[in-house]
Order: sequence, then structure tokens, then C-alpha cells
Amino acid sequence: MPGGDGIAGRAGASWLRARRRLAHLEEATRPVHRDLEAALARRWEELPDAVKTPSQAIGRRTAGCEGTHGVFPRCDFACTPCYHGREANRVRTDGAHTVGEVDRQMKYLRARRGPGQNAQLIGGEVSLLSPDDHAEALLAMRRHGRKPMSMSHGDFDYDYLRRLAIAADGRPRFDRLSFAGHFDSMMFGRRGVRRPRREADLHPHRARFCEHFRRLERETGISHYLAHNMTVTPANLGQVAEVVRDCRDMGFRMFSFQPAAFVGRASRWKHDYREVTAEAVWAEIERGAGARLPSDVFQIGDVRCNRTAYGAWVGDRWIPFLDDRVPADLAARDAFFSTFGGMDFVAPPAVLAARVARALAARPGGLRHALRWVPRFVRRAGGLVSLLGHRPAPVTYVVHSFMDAESVRPAWELLRRGELSDEPRVREVQERLQACAYAMAHPDSDTLVPACAQHGVLDRSENEALRTLLPR
Ligand code: SF4
Repeated sequence: MPGGDGIAGRAGASWLRARRRLAHLEEATRPVHRDLEAALARRWEELPDAVKTPSQAIGRRTAGCEGTHGVFPRCDFACTPCYHGREANRVRTDGAHTVGEVDRQMKYLRARRGPGQNAQLIGGEVSLLSPDDHAEALLAMRRHGRKPMSMSHGDFDYDYLRRLAIAADGRPRFDRLSFAGHFDSMMFGRRGVRRPRREADLHPHRARFCEHFRRLERETGISHYLAHNMTVTPANLGQVAEVVRDCRDMGFRMFSFQPAAFVGRASRWKHDYREVTAEAVWAEIERGAGARLPSDVFQIGDVRCNRTAYGAWVGDRWIPFLDDRVPADLAARDAFFSTFGGMDFVAPPAVLAARVARALAARPGGLRHALRWVPRFVRRAGGLVSLLGHRPAPVTYVVHSFMDAESVRPAWELLRRGELSDEPRVREVQERLQACAYAMAHPDSDTLVPACAQHGVLDRSENEALRTLLPR
């Protein structure tokens, strides 16, 4: 028969276990993870005053996007422009280096920016990694609380994707994969269309890329999120509308257009890229979508860097989720920020329900705004009959305008010394860098570097060092 001490000991252990479980539950169902909450508050503090507008999502909803650097700089395409210097292609793609470096960078990002942030596995061409190394890199990103997206030219076979998704023992390595395929007519080397003459030449390749993922989902149940990236120069500006229109139903959930900048290899600069403004690209996207795209509802960083419009296709019409001309929609946006903040909506249904319930319990006004928004969206989408006939297909449109390397260099060097320039053009670049929405981790110098500074200033010396470490 157990003694009194034994019973008390077991009761104590159960009590401890129950407390630990409760604490874990409390943590998992918190609307926003504590580390993220703290990181968002820090990020908001750092932002220049000019971008702290009601629409600003950085510091409220997200700490910003993240990307890898120096992990696999080599690419097997030749693009005009190319953001990589010549030395990038002299570095061997090496799985062990990639995985180790990705792990180091992501660990730093988790510590600085909390969990649940979107991170791009980016460099040269990601599919030059073996499927196993590629998968290991994605798993390392996930281990550090990132939501990874692989950035590729998209010219790989279904077999590559399947071997990435399924381990040698036949088990799926992921429940979901996110990829961005970069397609534009200034990219040379794609199998089947080495030298595209116009954007439409690439449509079958865009469709094939999306079909790989649909097939993977059919065969394995692994779902996907696909983005379409496209560099815009004077040569293809007039074809942006056509891409938006023709590729609408292919399966991309985001179309991101990047006006070309003078970055990387000067011998690959073909046009006066300054002729292509963000406004001109946005107008083209609107022409293709046949709709006005409200980019003022949510601002990601500085408006000179980013424009974004969130909405869904309902039949033949693109409908914004929120319209910047409707005061009730702007109030709904404010309520969304204050109610949910950086809440991660990607969670098991029960956890998500608990998070939402806790967020709404703390700020019941959020529910009122949500309930009023639903009929507004239904009306905008043409009524219930229209919505029942056409399931809304969310598609986001983005313009991301990188800066020229020669503008970034002096601005970044001053910022590193803690100095703000009095020269208006340098100051403008500094403000954009300070509000940057796309950063890269430098654990050695304890720094987050905006991608413009990474590509325009640091890539060259980094790749020179990698040439010695990983010669081809
Ligand atoms: S990477 Fe450059 S263009 Fe993009 S948000 Fe950062 S500073 Fe702006």
C-alpha cells in the first residue's frame, strides 16, 4: 500500500503537469505571441513618423517580409536586368552550406522578429538545390517559426517538386508549399522558350508551373500558395495588363510586379528603367483587372516602395475586400488592426477559434465591424446570387519598386553610422530603408539589412567571399 508521501508526490506531479498543459494552452491560444507583440512594438517605434499612418501594416500586423542571402547565389538563367553580379555564378550551389546558413539566419530572425513571419528562400535559383536540400532548408525555416516561400524561375519538372514534397520513405514532408514563380520576357534560358519575344510566349510555362502544384495536391493532398513575380521594364510595361488578364485563373494567388532598377550586373542593363514608374505599372494592373485597385487601405512600409491591393475575383469582377472610399471599410480596417494585430490565422481550427474568441472578447467592437462588413462585401460582389454562383478567388496585386544601387549606397552607409542626411534625395532613400518591408538577417553584425542594401551594397563582397569558400 503506498504511503502518504507517495500519494502526495503523485498528486503534486499531476498538478504540475496540469499547470504546464494550461500554460501551454494559454500560450497557443493567445491572439498574438508575446515575442511577436514585442517585436511589432519595436518595429513601430523604429518607423519614420511619416509612414506611421492609419493604413500602416508594418509594426501593427507584420514585422515585414524576410529573405535569405548568400545561401545559393548561382542561377542558370540570364536575365536583363540581373540583380546578381558576375561573381554569383562562380559560387557552387552546396546543400550543406545552404541549410546551415539558412538555419543561422532564421534563428536570428526568430529572435529579433518573433514567430509567424513570411520568409523567402531566395538567392540565385532555388531548384539548383537537390530536392532533399531544398526541403531541409524549408524545414529549417519552419523550425524557426518562419512561413517559407521558395523563389524560383519555375523551370523545373513535376518530378523535382514531388521529390521535394515527399521524403524517401514516402511520407509527405509538408502539408503546404508556397512558391513564387518569376516569369517575364527578359529572362533567357527557359526550356522550350529560350528567348521569349513577348509575355504571352510564357503563358504555357506559367500554366505548367501551376499545374505541377495542382497535380501534387491531387496526388498527395499537399496544398499550395503560388505567387507570380514579374520584372517590368519599358520593353514589357505595355504587356502587364495582358498578363493580369490572361493569367487570372491559372492558380496564382498573388501577382507582384517589380519595376526594374539599376542593381547588379551593369552589362545586363538594357533600358532606361527610370521610365517605368510604380504609378504606370499600377495603372496597367488596373487595366488588366478591369477594376480600380485601392492601394491606400493597407500600406506596407513606404508608399514609394510598395503598393498592395487585397481582394477577390467573383466571376469576371475583381472586388476589393476593403474600399478606401468607404469610411466604414476604413473603420473596419482600424478595428481589424486593433482587434487582431499580428494574429496568425494559420493554425488548427480549434486553436484559431480560441484565438479569435479571445481577441474578440478583449475588443468586442471588432465583431460589430466584421458583421457590418459582410453585407457590404456581398453587395459589392453583386449580391448573394452572384456569390453563390462564383466562389470568390482571393488574388492580391503588388508593385514593389527596388531602388538603384547607386542611390542606396551612400544612404545606407550614413544610416550604418547613425546619420541622417540633409540632402533631400539621400534622405528620401534613408526613409525608405528605415521603413523597409523586406529584410535580410546578418547575425554576425546583429543587423537586419533591407534587401535594397543587400543587393545594391553587400552582395558583391559576400559573393566574392563565397567564391573562395565554395568554388565551382
Ligand atoms: S527592399 Fe528596398 S524597395 Fe523594398 S521595401 Fe525595402 S527599401 Fe523599399
